[in-house]
Amino acid sequence: MASIPPDLIEKIQSAGSVVVLTGSGVSAESGVPTFRDAQTGLWERYDPQELATPEAFERNPRLVWEWYSWRRELVGKAKPNPGHLALAELERMSGLFTLITQNVDGLHRAAGNENVIELHGNIRRSKCSEEGIVVEEPEESEDIPPRCPHCGASLRPDVVWFGEALPYEAFEAAVDAARNCDLFFSIGTSSLVYPAASLPYEALDSGAVLVEINPDETPLSARADFVLRGTAGEILPELVEALQEQ
Ligand code: NAD
Repeated sequence: MASIPPDLIEKIQSAGSVVVLTGSGVSAESGVPTFRDAQTGLWERYDPQELATPEAFERNPRLVWEWYSWRRELVGKAKPNPGHLALAELERMSGLFTLITQNVDGLHRAAGNENVIELHGNIRRSKCSEEGIVVEEPEESEDIPPRCPHCGASLRPDVVWFGEALPYEAFEAAVDAARNCDLFFSIGTSSLVYPAASLPYEALDSGAVLVEINPDETPLSARADFVLRGTAGEILPELVEALQEQ
């Protein structure tokens, strides 16, 4: 394959442990817009980075719930794309393999990846905004947002908003995987949203080889050993094919 450096293929084949960190770019080719893409229809005039915050929910819980209902519908229709499927294949071909995702759409598991750490929750679930109890399927109700069946407080999506802490165990497991890998892939993420963006630096500090896959430059690009410019849906199937040809 012309675009996959042979050196990289060798590094993958000799790696004892591989970690992949994904961001919303990996789901763009499944029709789930990133937060930096322009929004469409009713939501055109809203900035997602201002809706995905605890302050926005406090100010206008109905607006935020309805925006998430719209996104949930998009995600419900979305199917894993060739990039997701190639990552599932890469897990099957690798020894130790951990996929850390900032995505909340569940598409990595749907594609067949098994060792997945969800750093930012999952949009398909809701939780109580007061007590945090997870509610898988809120009952039909006229209330928007629906109410917690236990305490009556508003439900909210079970996702991590800007300014909120990450689930402790998930983040600890991600740091541990990053510090102990030989090869770290950063795919479809702007490398701007912390603390997830700190993970590639943990891997670099521990001596891992760093690979970035993104059509655009990011603050991480200059530190990467290999930069593959293109979309996840194009590059990842090429990478897996090149590995299978060996
Ligand atoms: P982000 O910070 O991860 O940035 C998106 C990155 O993807 C950009 O660098 C862009 O150049 C790149 N990209 C775009 N299309 C691509 C493609 N086809 N292949 C590879 N790379 C591509 O993500 P964000 O949109 O700023 O979102 C921030 C946070 O919001 C996320 O970390 C996540 O928690 C949440 N979010 C999740 C989803 C999802 O679950 N699908 C979607 C939007 C936002």
